[in-house]
Amino acid sequence: MRNDTKGIIFVGDGMGGRPMPQLDGMTTVEAQETPALDRVAREGACGLMDPIARGMGAGSDTAHMAILGYDPWEHYKGRGPFEAKGVGLDVRVGDVAFRCNFATVDGRRVVDRRADRIKHGTDALAEAISEQIEEIEGVQIVFAASVEHRAALVLRGEGLWHEITDVDPHDEGKDYLDSHPEEGAQDLEGAEKAAGIVNEFVRQVRPILEDHEVNVERRREGKKPANIVLPRGAGTAVDLTPFEQRYGMRGAMIVEVDLVRGLGDYLDMDVIRVEGATGGHDTDEMAIAEAVLDALDEHDFVLANIKCPDLSGHDGLAREKMAAIAKVDRAVGHIMDHIACTPTTLMLTADHCTPCSVRNHSGDAVPVAFCGFGVRPDDVESYGERSCAKGIMGRMVGMEVMDIMRNMMDRGEKFGA
Ligand code: ZN
Ligand code: ZN
Repeated sequence: MRNDTKGIIFVGDGMGGRPMPQLDGMTTVEAQETPALDRVAREGACGLMDPIARGMGAGSDTAHMAILGYDPWEHYKGRGPFEAKGVGLDVRVGDVAFRCNFATVDGRRVVDRRADRIKHGTDALAEAISEQIEEIEGVQIVFAASVEHRAALVLRGEGLWHEITDVDPHDEGKDYLDSHPEEGAQDLEGAEKAAGIVNEFVRQVRPILEDHEVNVERRREGKKPANIVLPRGAGTAVDLTPFEQRYGMRGAMIVEVDLVRGLGDYLDMDVIRVEGATGGHDTDEMAIAEAVLDALDEHDFVLANIKCPDLSGHDGLAREKMAAIAKVDRAVGHIMDHIACTPTTLMLTADHCTPCSVRNHSGDAVPVAFCGFGVRPDDVESYGERSCAKGIMGRMVGMEVMDIMRNMMDRGEKFGA
């Protein structure tokens, strides 16, 4: 077993897809020229991966969890804790956390879920909330603003459970809701307690925000006030073994999805922010590639992610998705060209498919390719849904990836004598 090898998992978010008539029956990955992705496939070993299980559409959070070897069936208790971590809040085991929107309401009716896409002043609003609501019924309240209209809320106290409905109605023109325990909640008492506290939180927030000077100013400027906070996506913070402790490798994360960054923080990986990495179509993919190469100096393992293919998939825009995939290709090409002589294994994958025809994540398997140190190459010549299906790696699930990577990196564990 070695301890000097390096590993990279490079994720094109939602990069997999389905054949499209307007692309002559090809997927966007197949239709786009991808010299670097094809090189990984040609020099390496290919296969298909079901991020969670066959036919199961995966969220970015659960997919990345599985790829890092943390079983989402066992450990995923809602996205809230990752969101809150991603915003920089302290999250402890047993906390119930939410992501929230600053929104505009008229009475109970939600007029604008993003409060006119508020950009400034939410820190001051969050501060006012934090000063005036420290606890509710013995449960500590932690609240912070994130970018634009986004925020996060943490409830800290005994016996809380996350299986509760959202306050956010998810549609404008509807009334905001009282949170209730979900049907069949595992811990009904804990869920009732959490729902009661979050409802009371929203009730107390209203008057604090309504008359806050930030909103007085917004009204004067003809903008909608951010006069409510709408929590959603509750999750109970679970105990996950830190990445380094689990694998004996110092891990870094260079990803464009807040939620996944939160997972990285959660696993005590080094979450590296890259200037120019916007998470959008204008992202600086070369800066991301450079950051991956830099991170390899100090780390054994790097997980990287470029978000934009997923955005185009949700928007159903095939040509735009192809341009996004070209960005992934340029980044991977730069990494392949500049990797130092250290033995390095690279895995190229998507975290799930986001087919333009579906406009959401689907349960289709994603193409994967491994190249570099410890890889036994096959005859596959290009990276794509069809070609990778013929590869030596066959069909795997996300939970197998870290074992496969560690084996290739000569860092695997032996089962038995
Ligand atoms: Zn994703
Ligand atoms: Zn998505």
